[in-house]
Amino acid sequence: MTASAQGVQTTSAQSSASHPERVFNFSAGPATMPESVLREVQDEMLCYPGAGASIMEISHRDKLFVDVLHDAESTIRELLNVSDDYSVMFMQGGATLQFSAIPANLLRGSGKRAQYVLTGSWGKKAIKEAKKEGDVDVLFDAADSNYDHIPSASDLACPDDAAYMYYCSNETIQGVQFPTEPNCPDSVPLVSDASSDFLCRPLPIDQYGLLYACAQKNAGPAGVSVVIMRKDLLDQADPNIPGYLHFKNHHDNDSEWNTPPTFAIYVLGKVARWLRDDMGGLEKMESINREKSQQLYSAIDSSNGFYRGHAKTDCRSLMNVTFNLPSDELTAKFIAEAAEHKLAALKGHRSVGGIRASIYNAMPREGVNALASFMNDFASKNS
Ligand SMILES: *Cc1c(COP(=O)(O)O)cnc(C)c1O
Repeated sequence: MTASAQGVQTTSAQSSASHPERVFNFSAGPATMPESVLREVQDEMLCYPGAGASIMEISHRDKLFVDVLHDAESTIRELLNVSDDYSVMFMQGGATLQFSAIPANLLRGSGKRAQYVLTGSWGKKAIKEAKKEGDVDVLFDAADSNYDHIPSASDLACPDDAAYMYYCSNETIQGVQFPTEPNCPDSVPLVSDASSDFLCRPLPIDQYGLLYACAQKNAGPAGVSVVIMRKDLLDQADPNIPGYLHFKNHHDNDSEWNTPPTFAIYVLGKVARWLRDDMGGLEKMESINREKSQQLYSAIDSSNGFYRGHAKTDCRSLMNVTFNLPSDELTAKFIAEAAEHKLAALKGHRSVGGIRASIYNAMPREGVNALASFMNDFASKNS
């Protein structure tokens, strides 16, 4: 009997015993996927129902694929309660393309200045690209404390006539997340890089001008990004910007201005359905994410200083738990011993050091339980 046939009989779709070599994967991205989605993809790999071929082998104009794309879009709309005032687009180029696309559409030639809130590494990269398109102000910069905190409301004085105000809702490398949207004048479109916390909780979409996420952290495989944009902003761009960057081309052509990343959209749609049907929607997902992250933060806080969390407590990420150990030797030992327990990809980014445990939606509770007890055990043996 194959692993997938056995899997069908398991009650827990997230059993870690589904494949003897499958680990609890704490990778920051591309990251762990819901196992039930992987199985569905496996089942449909040779023949997508009705296609006589794999979904990756048919035209993006084929009705079967267009239905897949529309279904992915409508499931995302349903999960986040996105109104008709917003376009939902699928694009390639990752989050990095958005660093350029956003200022190309909303800043270039506008005569206005863009305001950036800088709380970590990804925001920094976004600013670098935005400066190529126009005038940029850095409204807040947490560099002095190695990006361990977010601004307080009084730190943010965004002018009423800004082109937009940009922030990163969850800095993946630092593990710093905004618990709610930063305050932004009504006249200014709020723009968010939500790449690593997209779909981790409900969002008040109507507070945003534009929100985007590459899929490979919390929403699917690499290759597709989701852009949710207020429709009245679509017409602002100079039509001479590069065609692929022009959001209006993607909107007007239903994300098929050119060949979209069909396979990635198909898998993203399955992850969205898994969130809605198996996990019960974003409110439920958020409470699970709170419990999972709290388990790891408790292990940090109860370690008598053995583990030191990187983010200040009011902006600890639900998705990327970052912490340091007393020495590089102990960090290396932690990673090696964790791997023996099938706890993988825990090494922190070099700019923060230590450990980063990425616990996206698809990380099963069993994985977090296993990591939390490993942490407690390791601390008591090595303190
Ligand atoms: C991963 C990540 C990016 C970069 O995504 P690419 O798809 O590699 O361009 C940008 N922002 C955030 C917050 C990320 O987590």
